[in-house]
Amino acid sequence: MNYLNSDIKYLKGVGEKRAKMLAAELGISTFRELLYTFPFRHIDRSRFYHIRELSGEMPYVQLRGRFISFSIEGEGARKRLLGLFSDGERLIQTVWFSKVNALKDLYKTGVEYILFGKPSEYRGGYNLVHPEVTPYDAQRPVTGFQGVYSMTEGMRKAGYSPRFLSHLADRLISMPGFETIGETLPPEVITEMHLMSLKEALRNLHFPTDNAHLQKARERMKFEELFYLQLNILRFARARSHKIVGRIFSRIGDNFNNFYSKCLPFELTGAQKRVLKEIRNDMRTGRQMNRLLQGDVGSGKTMVAFMSMLMACDNSTQGALMAPTEILATQHYETLRAWGEQIGLQVRLLTGSTRAKERHEIHTGLLDGSINIVVGTHALIEDAVQFKELGLVVIDEQHRFGVAQRAKMWAKSQVPPHVLVMTATPIPRTLAMTVYGDLDVSVIDELPPGRKPVLTLLRYDENRMEVNKLLARELAAGRQAYIVYPLIAENPKLELKSVETGLERISGLFPQYKVCCVHGRMKPDVKDAQMQKFVSGEAHILVATTVIEVGVNVPNATVMVIENAERFGLSQMHQLRGRVGRGSDKSYCVLVTKQNIGADTRKRLTIMTDTTDGFLISEADMQLRGPGDMEGTQQSGLAFALNIANLATDGQILNFARQTAIRVLNAHSELAEIKGDQAYMAEGTLPLSEAGVNTIRRELNYRFKKEVDWSQIS
Ligand code: ADP
Ligand code: MG
Repeated sequence: MNYLNSDIKYLKGVGEKRAKMLAAELGISTFRELLYTFPFRHIDRSRFYHIRELSGEMPYVQLRGRFISFSIEGEGARKRLLGLFSDGERLIQTVWFSKVNALKDLYKTGVEYILFGKPSEYRGGYNLVHPEVTPYDAQRPVTGFQGVYSMTEGMRKAGYSPRFLSHLADRLISMPGFETIGETLPPEVITEMHLMSLKEALRNLHFPTDNAHLQKARERMKFEELFYLQLNILRFARARSHKIVGRIFSRIGDNFNNFYSKCLPFELTGAQKRVLKEIRNDMRTGRQMNRLLQGDVGSGKTMVAFMSMLMACDNSTQGALMAPTEILATQHYETLRAWGEQIGLQVRLLTGSTRAKERHEIHTGLLDGSINIVVGTHALIEDAVQFKELGLVVIDEQHRFGVAQRAKMWAKSQVPPHVLVMTATPIPRTLAMTVYGDLDVSVIDELPPGRKPVLTLLRYDENRMEVNKLLARELAAGRQAYIVYPLIAENPKLELKSVETGLERISGLFPQYKVCCVHGRMKPDVKDAQMQKFVSGEAHILVATTVIEVGVNVPNATVMVIENAERFGLSQMHQLRGRVGRGSDKSYCVLVTKQNIGADTRKRLTIMTDTTDGFLISEADMQLRGPGDMEGTQQSGLAFALNIANLATDGQILNFARQTAIRVLNAHSELAEIKGDQAYMAEGTLPLSEAGVNTIRRELNYRFKKEVDWSQIS
């Protein structure tokens, strides 16, 4: 048994009982797993820092000095104690939000203290939030760097000390076996990337010698993690594209050419043209296309989808467009039918509410090839739906469909169809590379000309009159409005507005207009009927939860009011805002919040009023909330499985890791279990020694042994 794989119970000081606890609470059962359980933060008691040295990248540090003054500011929830602290050279502000009065009495000015905390950026400088304060004691020993490990509730209850894991790590690292552990990265990679060795990195993560070593150690382990993640995604994508033959669409024919020269209702934007070229290139290579098309709301993805389908039709195959709801499918159908009609293409709609007779007719038409394009909902997945030659599947609003459902569409054709997945939820590049690492990504980063950006306003409950006035004015001008609430019904525990009371209030406020209402607890047909009233213009105001957020197109709607905006994610609000500003009229998005929102919330909401760029917003959203909460990532599970890397902040390391993984695969196609493949990715090659390849195999095996074969399911 080698050192790393040894059972943790054999570590001195652990034994059966504690081993059980470690497995149950932290999932640790081997030496390696314990060594890879890193402190989530470090505290630096090795020395006193000067205020002038502080930066945002520092761990917890200690300062030595005296308070100059204290003051209490704000009221209620915003009440806080401010202290001004001097190290004899400069001043720094400290702030406490709880136990304000008690702390004010406890801490004295003029007494020498040690302040201990993490510097955070504040007004162009730094402050310390909730620092620990202890009287300075010249006798107290300097203890150096200290790692802080996560503890579970169970461990706390069982009486484990916060230093328990640190002691175990210390013991592990002091064992002679530690010196024998092998590298987890090939030597060529370590040399080229100037990475710290594994042993040194592990030692420094648990017991840093100083801040510079700690940062290098973190970098090394982050690289390792992201490198293997990318290598794993890429090797399956590569195996798939090697094994699976795609249809070759060699021609651009009459359908495409006629439509392009005679029927195009507007000039394509540069971005639309570029993306169409990318799609065309994919579909003529003989590889199966698996492409993600990201484009902000209103960027014109539908036209790209349609023209891609024309390429499919020009090569004697059929196209299918799948949307997540009946309303969206119907809207797409109406658009595509109108466009298709002009060049004599048969376009049909198939949803759950299609009548039996028509359904049968559509089934027949798809099978005999007389229908060229079908638009639909999940109904398209049913086994009864068979095609003569399905050439291209377009999936709109990807995150509503599971991977398994995509796979079912694949199965409808002997040669798998090309797949284009469209999403209006822009996700940051780093996230896309991980969550959709096996898809090629196209981006429409340009809106059609002449769009008026939606004017976004931030308003307090108290200024509701102003919001009502705006609504009244737009409604009187014949426009429609959305009002979105965080809840369906009022909840006594939450101080939030709801659709139920909102409906009452709005109906009372605007008795001369028709109000309809949708939320997630309605039966689908009731919901669709309500929604349809708004789409047709019969209803003027739609009161709703976020169920409306995906793709609905009502160009006459010019106002989007979001109640309790502080409760919504940025990307979500961006989606909602995308429902207005779709016509030629000036549109408004009003974010209504309670009066006393915190500084962070205000900052978040200000991003909404400052920009309408979906990528900027999703980037900011990820910085603020972390990748795990981002829309479009939930089903992948991938983004959260990370041990040390953080997709929100480690974009640069991720880039290097991905490029390195590509170069290794280019040199060693055997890692993807394929033979004689030519390197096809542009990054070049990074040839490894046999030992290096073996290291990679061992690591991939260790890290991903439980994984399914992705080539089967994308
Ligand atoms: P989304 O990307 O959100 O699905 P749509 O495809 O629904 O956007 O397009 C939004 C609107 O913009 C539609 O009314 C569409 O006809 C129009 N549109 C798309 N491309 C262009 C263009 N190049 N020039 C002008 N209008 C366009
Ligand atoms: Mg759309």
